[in-house]
Amino acid sequence: MNQDYIIPKEWSIVEEGFDRDRMESSESLFSMGNGAMGQRANFEESYSGPTFQGSYIAGLYYPDKTRVGWWKNGYPEYFAKVLNAPNWIGIDVKINGEKLDLAKCKEVRGFRRELNMKEGWHHRSFEATLQNGTEIRVEARRFLSLETDELGVIKYEVTPLNREAKIVFCPYVDAGITNEDANWDEKFWEPLETRSSGREAFVVAQTFKTHFRVATFMHNTLFLNEKELQLEPVATESAEDKVQFAYEVPVQQGETATIQKLGGYTVSFNHDKDKLVTAARQVIQKAAEKGYEALLKAQQDAWAAIWEMADITIEGDVKAQQGIRFNIFQLNQTYLGRDARLNIGPKGFTGEKYGGSTYWDTEAYCLPFYMATKNQQVARNLLSYRYNQLDKAIENAEKLGFGNGAALYPMVTMNGEECHNEWEITFEEIHRNGAIAFAIYRYYCYTGDYSYIPEKGLEVLIGIARFWAQRATYSTAKDKYVILGVTGPNEYENNVNNNWYTNYIAKWCLEYAVEQVQKVKEEYVADHSRIVAKTKLSDNETAHWKEVVGNMYFPYSEEHDVYLQQDGFLDKELVKVADLDAAQRPLNQKWSWDRILRSPYIKQADVLQGFYFFEDHFTREELERHFDFYEPFTVHESSLSPCVHSIQAALLGRMEQAYAFYLRTSRLDLDDYNREVKEGCHITSMAGTWMSIVEGFGGMRVKDSVLHFSPKIPEQWKGYSFKINFRGQVLKVDVNARGTGFALEGNESLTVVVNGKQVIVEPGNPVAVQ
Ligand code: BGC
Repeated sequence: MNQDYIIPKEWSIVEEGFDRDRMESSESLFSMGNGAMGQRANFEESYSGPTFQGSYIAGLYYPDKTRVGWWKNGYPEYFAKVLNAPNWIGIDVKINGEKLDLAKCKEVRGFRRELNMKEGWHHRSFEATLQNGTEIRVEARRFLSLETDELGVIKYEVTPLNREAKIVFCPYVDAGITNEDANWDEKFWEPLETRSSGREAFVVAQTFKTHFRVATFMHNTLFLNEKELQLEPVATESAEDKVQFAYEVPVQQGETATIQKLGGYTVSFNHDKDKLVTAARQVIQKAAEKGYEALLKAQQDAWAAIWEMADITIEGDVKAQQGIRFNIFQLNQTYLGRDARLNIGPKGFTGEKYGGSTYWDTEAYCLPFYMATKNQQVARNLLSYRYNQLDKAIENAEKLGFGNGAALYPMVTMNGEECHNEWEITFEEIHRNGAIAFAIYRYYCYTGDYSYIPEKGLEVLIGIARFWAQRATYSTAKDKYVILGVTGPNEYENNVNNNWYTNYIAKWCLEYAVEQVQKVKEEYVADHSRIVAKTKLSDNETAHWKEVVGNMYFPYSEEHDVYLQQDGFLDKELVKVADLDAAQRPLNQKWSWDRILRSPYIKQADVLQGFYFFEDHFTREELERHFDFYEPFTVHESSLSPCVHSIQAALLGRMEQAYAFYLRTSRLDLDDYNREVKEGCHITSMAGTWMSIVEGFGGMRVKDSVLHFSPKIPEQWKGYSFKINFRGQVLKVDVNARGTGFALEGNESLTVVVNGKQVIVEPGNPVAVQ
């Protein structure tokens, strides 16, 4: 953990001082994205110290052939790698003949970076003394346009401080890049063509195997003391995968030379393969006409619109405020919900590991955030993503020996195919299927839009129910259905029998599918006939589902009066985490995998994940008992863990604990709790941070179409507020020591229940409840 590195500010992430050892961590924290592309905060100029270079384009991936020691049937052929995309940000800078490289300067002073979350830009400034004695000041601002998501903008300024200087700016576009994470050290990009004319250059390249084609472009304008120079490049270097210009600007001491670089990508995902350069030219032309100031203004306005709806304010606790805004900012940088082909990668655009692929994280953690801070359509897009991949989920189940339309959604995917290559994840971590069904239920509960189920959702529910009905085994010894050989959400156990969470969600999916088939049969006759004709669903089949539902086995301990995480859990040596030597942690970095598997330690909410999803199936006492039994064995080594525990601690009135978990989830990356932020940020768990406030402290639930709240405040805060879009109306909830205020923007009054009491909120007429 590195608690005091990032300077606490309400709207910005700020780093002061040039710390080479933290370079890769800061590159993650200061990452930028606009939903369509993103990049780590790599420097524009060369840097020869340790750095992790990364630019990414949403939806693009490379199927990296699986590498395992001993191949087994059913293994996925490939692991989809998020691609490090061509570099458009690069600007080599030469000052009086010496290449600027902060790793090699005599001295670096006043280094400062700011990620301004309110306005969506990154700024870096420093002074440096070069080996040749020239002292310079550099200011560089960069943003990825939300308005035109193929465009990025850089303004890079150099001022010599102690003498005149010949400054040579050498901006480039470069497709000759590699991935750090590559199984066979293959190149992922094939260069096709370069073009340059005047101020513009283009590199067209395509990915091997997947053939995504990309034009990476740049357009440069030079200034001296803010006055535009009509400069042509003095040199142009072209290789098959790179174009680099050189512009010479002689400057007097104290004068400022500036390069403005427009850059970005046009991609065959969105354009005709043969018209990528034309499309890029159009982006450049529009942006150049607008000019830097107007582009920046548009960026500020676009972020203001996002914050208007998504902001959470916290009074009296700057670190908590910075934490939640960082989470909301990163979520919006990663996914804006505009394109149903895209999804939310656990590392977003901040690193390669997990990056770009879709996990159960989307349904289990992210959906509520997008549903409440954007709109129904965005939530529907997330659900449709899985509907569109149903055929692949059926194929995926077939590969593992299931049939009759059983669907097993992948644990990790880019295009619907499973692309994770650890057997315990692909074959065993089947609980993910449950979260996908649960998201459909959650969507309906929150939005009230039932139409999704007859249109698309029911087919998904049927495929999933079929899988569970086939995956459950009838045990004659127990006279019950059991589910053998699984990995639950707690990945620190493999190949266990009867993981309670998996059995519970399997049973729930079957029950929910039976109910929905019945409802659609009664109320959407035409859809029912279409779906039955397509899926060949029979009454015998649903009768079997009911039989499994009624006879599912759940491991239970009479002694502790709790459901057991899995068969045999009590045989473990039950030493609590608090009694472990702190030097042994994080376990995943200190212990052998074998030792972890034999231990009772829980990576993330497992039984408690079930208590979170199905809270209203259990009493408060049951929750308390399970929380007290399992949390002391939980090491929270998955980013997804603290948020669920924060929500449950708040529900149990344990505010100190809820607050500690809140800080851990919201500042996980900023304070580098798990010592791995250099690999990238934990984007999907950031939606869990949002839930910790809205569902945890705010106590928001939807019960029978009505919003309920049971607001509580951590004692470190004076108050907090959030907004939600509930069925087309925007409700602002403001909690402080005096009570809770509700303000509604919309056309109809809204009844909410606050601590069990009904309150009617009229549009434009705020109410306060004690
Ligand atoms: C967690 C999984 C999660 C994945 C991606 C793993 O560490 O155990 O539950 O899906 O990270 O966030």
